[in-house]
Amino acid sequence: MITKPSFRRKRHGIYIHPLIILIAVLAAGAAGLTWYLRSAPFGSQEGQPSGSGGTAAPVQANAPPDTPPEHITTPSGIACTLTRLPENAIYAGNLILVNNWTEFHFPENQKDNLVCVLDERTDSYYARDNSLYLLPEAQAALNDFMDAYVEQGGKKSIQIVAAHRTVEYQQHLFDQSAERNGLEHAKRYVAQPGFSEHHTGLTVDLGTMSGDFMDSVGDYAWITENCQDYGWIVRYETGKEEITGIWDEPWHFRYVGIPHATEMARLDYCLEEYIDYLKIFPQDAAHLIINCVSGSYEVWYAEGTSVYLPDSTPCSVSGNNIDGFIVTCKTG
Ligand SMILES: [Zn+2]
Repeated sequence: MITKPSFRRKRHGIYIHPLIILIAVLAAGAAGLTWYLRSAPFGSQEGQPSGSGGTAAPVQANAPPDTPPEHITTPSGIACTLTRLPENAIYAGNLILVNNWTEFHFPENQKDNLVCVLDERTDSYYARDNSLYLLPEAQAALNDFMDAYVEQGGKKSIQIVAAHRTVEYQQHLFDQSAERNGLEHAKRYVAQPGFSEHHTGLTVDLGTMSGDFMDSVGDYAWITENCQDYGWIVRYETGKEEITGIWDEPWHFRYVGIPHATEMARLDYCLEEYIDYLKIFPQDAAHLIINCVSGSYEVWYAEGTSVYLPDSTPCSVSGNNIDGFIVTCKTG
């Protein structure tokens, strides 16, 4: 169980404990250059893990068995350095899993980091009112998504009806549902306050100008079929209810970024399944290679807070909101 991060860590972003640095320096000094790994312990393959996935990196005979090397080079030639990330970073990023048993950890001053959909939208779609907010990356991806929908022939008829929600508003929705339809109905159809994906600022509900939620039939089928090319997934689908805990919602889209949305669509995985799947690509074994409309990516999972980060290759790092990080490097 991960303990709550300290206030100090929250305020200072990436925080490396002096003891960690000391241990790293001592270990490097004792073992000399033999610590530096080349690409030998890594494999790399597309889509599926190797049969020996999870194999630990070889350790030099005179080295302490549990100390990982400070530097590695991945199969794509990405030079990385072991970096200690703050525990609270596990709860942030585009790939965080939030569901009825995985609580969202609200960052301090969350609203300061959100942008207003009504102000930032393009002319390709509408926003219900000025109460809708998203994280900037999700907002930019929503604009690209809706612009592409209209450009390929879709009518300008989509209206964003929900985006970020505070815990107070989610409580209001839950209480309202329980009052109207009973507690059991509310539990089935409305996420518990603190456990809604709408808290993240990475989620939108698409509606139509007539006030209905969008379904995925007719003209709107394009939206469901192509959302991954813009970084979005249909979060709750028929057949996945037992895994997601939420019934089919064709209007609820979650931003995860183009490479991961593409891989999830290819595998037909919901986010719960995908977060589990990524664990078979740990730092010291075969990495996942994803090719998508935005390029090629090498992806690995780091359990805990010691993470190999590229020295210079562009990458994004996301917590999974459970126990570690996913590193996504652009390789081409
Ligand atoms: Zn929703």
